[in-house]
Amino acid sequence: MTLMKSLYAGVASASFALVAFSAVADEDDVKIVASFSILGDMVEEVVGDLAEVTTIVGPDADAHVYQPSVADAKAVAQADIIFVNGLGFETWSDTLIAESGTEATVHIATDGVTPVEVEGEIDPHAWNSLSNGVIYVTNVSETLQSAMPAHADQIAANADTYIAELKALDAETKAKLAGLPANRRTVVTAHDAFGYLADAYGLTFLAPVGIDTEAEPSAKDLAILIDQLKAEGAAALFVENIASPALVQQISDETGIEIGGRLYSDALSERGGPATSYLAMFQHNLSTLLNALDNQTAS
Ligand code: ZN
Repeated sequence: MTLMKSLYAGVASASFALVAFSAVADEDDVKIVASFSILGDMVEEVVGDLAEVTTIVGPDADAHVYQPSVADAKAVAQADIIFVNGLGFETWSDTLIAESGTEATVHIATDGVTPVEVEGEIDPHAWNSLSNGVIYVTNVSETLQSAMPAHADQIAANADTYIAELKALDAETKAKLAGLPANRRTVVTAHDAFGYLADAYGLTFLAPVGIDTEAEPSAKDLAILIDQLKAEGAAALFVENIASPALVQQISDETGIEIGGRLYSDALSERGGPATSYLAMFQHNLSTLLNALDNQTAS
């Protein structure tokens, strides 16, 4: 009994120490690093102008195969708080964080997401369902409220406004995609980045490249996919902003299936593009899918 009591006392003081430690030293000079552009935008929406946010993998860039720069290592070294996606997305982040010598706390934005498996591997692209986006934003908000208690009310209010927008777009996406006929629901993208979108909104995505972009598809795998598309068809093909369109163009040439536009899978667009925020990216992907899949006579 005495032993149990002292164990509980130990646990209680340890968790108190953690909570105390998680507040940053100077709440008016907080440096936050986010691993890639979509997550960086979510963090900016929640923190507003209360802190400086640096994003490592920028717009239109591929975070799967990113090679960090000296400037990245410096940003990480100076950070107070680091947000990563997790689920195996950033293959380079553990090394970058360890070698930078940073004292920042590292937070995984996908904590609490139910992982989707694509061909036996965990799909890291969890942001491609808006209900997961709400989980990311909730995690970011809770972390920042603990780290910056003097600004907790403002952070919570920013997150509430943002989550309401994400939920409204989620409902709109469900309603609009629900109207598609069964034979207009299978599409092809360059790599398997839309497992969560497929699950959440009832579409089927096929891709010649797997969930990370590291490996080229074998000639055999590509031939199998092309044969499958010739036999079963697909409503449209889509190129992606982070990948060369050559492979998708080849599939289009060989199957006669049209390219329906460009989807933003793993990164926002550069400024001036159609997907400069997570919300704009999702809206763009929704309208691109609908333009290609809706209002067409089934063939
Ligand atoms: Zn990807």
